[in-house]
Amino acid sequence: MNHDEAAKLLGPYRDGELDLATCLKLEEHLAGCPSCQQQLAGEQEMVDLIQSETPRFKASPFLKTRIEAALREQRSSSATIPWWKRLSLGSTYSGLAGAAAMLVIFAVGFFSMQGIPELAQDAVANHVRSLQINHLMDVVSTDQHTVKPWFAGKLDYSPQVVDLAPSGYPLIGGRLDVLDHRNVAAIIYQRRKHYINLFIWPSNADSVHGNFNQNGYHVLCWTKSGMNYVAVSELGEKELKDFVAMIQEQTIDSRPGE
Ligand SMILES: [Zn+2]
Repeated sequence: MNHDEAAKLLGPYRDGELDLATCLKLEEHLAGCPSCQQQLAGEQEMVDLIQSETPRFKASPFLKTRIEAALREQRSSSATIPWWKRLSLGSTYSGLAGAAAMLVIFAVGFFSMQGIPELAQDAVANHVRSLQINHLMDVVSTDQHTVKPWFAGKLDYSPQVVDLAPSGYPLIGGRLDVLDHRNVAAIIYQRRKHYINLFIWPSNADSVHGNFNQNGYHVLCWTKSGMNYVAVSELGEKELKDFVAMIQEQTIDSRPGE
């Protein structure tokens, strides 16, 4: 891919609209082209600025429906399963999936009246967005002593950043995000090919708690030492719970931000 072709694709790339093959070719070009890198960074800055300057509104039911539809579409790309497997699984599987989807929709509708799960839904939306627009991380580092100071000046608190690399959940970076109508720290961990977004912000007496599943994503919420924590991932629930147990164990029991 030459520079002119690449330059035209930067916008769609940032918006996550490219297919995988084109994405890879573009990234190959990007790696060796400072001009494209700069243009991409500039555009991203503009997007961030617009997002940070724009008042945050609740997603309209229309947008929610579209996101849910997109998620379903993604999941139903079982077209990659060979046809003979689909034949045997096909009808029962889709029947079950349909029933499960109805249950999820019912559960989400039911729980969204209870307060906390709206937060969980927003956390899932943030997680999905972070994976879709090539914007998982603002600071890329496996070093907690790099990630923690990066938030200084960007937030009015300092999140604790622990590294779980020895336990198989390496820290890979951090990002600013918006949750619970405020700027929050998102710390990103990796588990094999999956990512975990860990959102952290001061609880200010509004503690969060509970485990939720939405569209295949697990959300675990807890409050410790004056800070709210929400972990989101498509990882299996057991692995996410292990991760959370380690984070809880290693976050020091005193109000961070000292
Ligand atoms: Zn270029």
